[in-house]
Amino acid sequence: MVLKKKAKKPFIPVERHETIRQKIAAVLEGQTLSAKGISANVGASEKEVYGHLEHIQKTINKKPLTLLITPAECRKCGFVFKKRDRLNKPGKCPVCNSELIQETLFSIKGWGA
Ligand SMILES: [Zn+2]
Repeated sequence: MVLKKKAKKPFIPVERHETIRQKIAAVLEGQTLSAKGISANVGASEKEVYGHLEHIQKTINKKPLTLLITPAECRKCGFVFKKRDRLNKPGKCPVCNSELIQETLFSIKGWGA
């Protein structure tokens, strides 16, 4: 006996992700937002937003667009978190241990704009 495992409606998670990425790209064109701001605009969690931003950062060079990243900065001593491979918000300033961190900001600009 052969069991048929054919779903009536195939679930395609990739499509949903593409849609959220498109929404993120759309909200970032012409405005600068933190992950929290993006999260509020597209209805995804901040954690999800960071994941999508990392993907956008890797793939955006194929398009005539660029993802502008304003690095996070310590509000107390002004330390800038420039050398971060991951985009998510740092917890503490390595210089003064302050947790008052200005979040990383994102924006998308077209080439030559
Ligand atoms: Zn600091």
